[in-house]
Amino acid sequence: MPRTIIKTKAIVLRSRRMGETSRMATLFTEDVGKLKVTAKGARRVKSKFGSGLDLMAEVHVVCYVRDTRDLQTLSECHLLHPPPSLGSDLERFSLANAALELIEGLTIEGEPNERLYACLRGVLDGLIEVEVDQVESLFWYYQLRVLDALGYSPELQQCVGCRRDLTDSWLWFSPAQGGSLCAACGQGVGMRIPRESLTFLTRLQSLRTYSKASLPPAPQRRGEIRTALNTFFDYHGSGRGSLRSLHFLESLRRDQSALKT
Ligand SMILES: [Zn+2]
Repeated sequence: MPRTIIKTKAIVLRSRRMGETSRMATLFTEDVGKLKVTAKGARRVKSKFGSGLDLMAEVHVVCYVRDTRDLQTLSECHLLHPPPSLGSDLERFSLANAALELIEGLTIEGEPNERLYACLRGVLDGLIEVEVDQVESLFWYYQLRVLDALGYSPELQQCVGCRRDLTDSWLWFSPAQGGSLCAACGQGVGMRIPRESLTFLTRLQSLRTYSKASLPPAPQRRGEIRTALNTFFDYHGSGRGSLRSLHFLESLRRDQSALKT
């Protein structure tokens, strides 16, 4: 059976124990997309894989790939970039996990996407750098870039129904229709959202590169933005864009606001 040797950069999306000494990992590689691998002996003290298979680490891997196998064999793994130091910050940690979950849920094995790889690399770096009030904005920016890289960018600048500019103070957003709708076209087909929130998303969408200073200040109301983006992923990813980490974060936010009242 022919086998191919693959040498590529990769980010560890998932990593778990297998048997007494080995590890199984899902990687998002730059050259061949998602790849599931086994690393034999990875859990031995003197393993040649070192800490390279830690979640969120960026590594350079050498892997033997056979088309007929679901699990490929990892031969070498060198650490390029350790996992981001997110400390005990639950919001940053949950969003970093959600960033991995999105890639795992929305990509299929063997389909590389360099832009998606760059998005993931960027958000993992950015989540350490941004100020606390920009953490969620960075994640929304990441979600929009992921949609763009997958070819599902929502239309946010004009009404997807009548193509007019969006001037009403309350608008609508519909994943099924592909984006925003004016007050007249949107009745009954989507969720209601303030124009301020859509304007904010439009500004995020127009950012071509992220830098610490480039994120606009987030609007007061954030709930509609979360819902709009998450339902868009649910709809276009057939449920595979639904994120456990975000549900966890949402329950955390509810608990915190319950404590304040
Ligand atoms: Zn319209």
